[in-house]
Parts: sequence; structure tokens; C-alpha cells
Amino acid sequence: MGKVYVVTSGKGGVGKTTTTANLGVGLAKNGYSVVLMDADIGLRNLDVILGLENRIVYNSMDVMEGTCRLKQALIKDKRYDKLFLLPASQTNDKMDVSEDMMKKLVAELKEKFDYVLIDCPAGIEQGFKNAIAGADEALIITTPEISSIRDADRVIGLLSANEMGDIKLIINRVKMKLVNEGNMLHMDDIVDILGLDVIGIVPDDEEIVISTNKGEPVTIKALTQSGKAYMNIVGRIIGKDIPFLNIDEKRSFASKFKNFFSR
Ligand code: ADP
Ligand code: MG
Repeated sequence: MGKVYVVTSGKGGVGKTTTTANLGVGLAKNGYSVVLMDADIGLRNLDVILGLENRIVYNSMDVMEGTCRLKQALIKDKRYDKLFLLPASQTNDKMDVSEDMMKKLVAELKEKFDYVLIDCPAGIEQGFKNAIAGADEALIITTPEISSIRDADRVIGLLSANEMGDIKLIINRVKMKLVNEGNMLHMDDIVDILGLDVIGIVPDDEEIVISTNKGEPVTIKALTQSGKAYMNIVGRIIGKDIPFLNIDEKRSFASKFKNFFSR
């Protein structure tokens, strides 16, 4: 039986889809079978980030409605034999899906893959409820901004109320220069606020934008800082003990921040 992670945040535009694609590639590179499920019904874009948009024939809605078999809707990645995408419907509405429908589909995926990663839509409405319904564990994405942290906090509360298993934090789009200058919240402070373990910190990196436009997640080459950061998260997911990057900056900033906010 595979493990099911939902990648969620509350706030939109913080890197859920980017993270789902990159972790999927990284897990596949480590030899695991992976399916990435786009749960953003009506607003899919995981297919584009993976460069698989031209291959879509069926989607998860077709599977849930019984129009096609699961096998017909799964799209095999061009680069990795064990990486698959299950696209979302572009024409349906999230209200067309129920939590039970999702649970059934995810249970089927779990039997076939080592890892199932669910890319959650923004918000905390039905789309969110559907996306978390079949998940065993959650990865919360936040940027070091108050609005994003607050939304993450809300989501963590909802996940706990839904008896979600392990919940881990990924801090995305960190700008080390700003952190060092005392102008961006530091990881330790975000951890203090949210009370979760961090599984990774991803720098703000223009390579992400370039790679997104090319449909080639940065973990394919993993040469950039963001690519390495995502591969480190993959390592931690599969149980390796990997130290965090930028440990020195972390220490130098922690003291600065405390003075800054006098606590
Ligand atoms: P979400 O799925 O949470 O809405 P996306 O993954 O679509 O967010 O990312 C939103 C935007 O932010 C995209 O344009 C993406 O390229 C950009 N982005 C995400 N992570 C990073 C990063 N670490 N560095 C730079 N840009 C990023
Ligand atoms: Mg998204």
C-alpha cells in the first residue's frame, strides 16, 4: 500500500503545484512509483508544469463517473517510467465531486503506487475537503509572509479537526538576503507560530519560473538551489537524515529577528 500526501496551503499562489510536481519527479528519480493527482477541478495546471498537457484524454472526473477506467486516465511521464499524472477535469466544478468519490479513487491509487501526491486547490471549501479526504498525511506550503502563514494556520486547524496523520511544513520562496537583513520572517519564527516540523525550505528562485514555462520541474536536473532543496525534501520523505541548507544564515538571523521584534 502506498502513502498518500495532500499538498495544501489555504492561500493560492504559494507553490503547491510546483511542489507537487517537483516532489513527484524526485520520488520517481529515487525509483518509486508515483502518481500526482491534480485536485484543482476547473483550474488544473499540474499538467502544464509537468509538460504533459498535450497528452490528456480522460481525467479523474471521468474515472469517478465511470466513463473510463483508471488506467485510461493516467498519463505516463515522458522522462520517468514510474511517474504518472492523473489530471483534473477542466469543465467540471468542484461541487461535482464528493469526499466519498475521492476516497474511493485514492484508495484505488494507493494500491497501485508507492506514493500518491494530491495537489490541493486554494481555499478551504469543497475542493479542499475533497482533496484531503483520502490523504494519510499533509504537506503544508507557506511562504514567509503573514497572509500565507495565517492561511496555513487555519488549514492546520482544519486538518487536525479532520484527524489528518502527520502534518509537515514546507517554507517556499525564502529570500535569504531579506532574511539576513531582518526583512523577512525566519524559519524558526514560522515554526514557532505554526507549531509544526519543517520538512524543507525552498529558496525563491527564478529557475522555477523558467522551468515552469518549459514544463520541466527543477528536480529533473536538480542543479539549482531550489532543485537541491526539493531533492532534500524528497530524501526526508523517504526517510533519509538530511541536514538543512543555510544553517549559518539561520543562526545569524535568529538573533537579529529577536532584537527586531524584541522577544
Ligand atoms: P499554487 O499551486 O499554490 O497556486 P504554484 O505552484 O502555481 O502555486 O506557484 C505560483 C507561482 O509562483 C508560479 O508562477 C510559480 O512559478 C511561482 N513559484 C513557486 N515557487 C517558487 C519559488 N520557489 N521561486 C520562484 N517562484 C516560485
Ligand atoms: Mg496550484
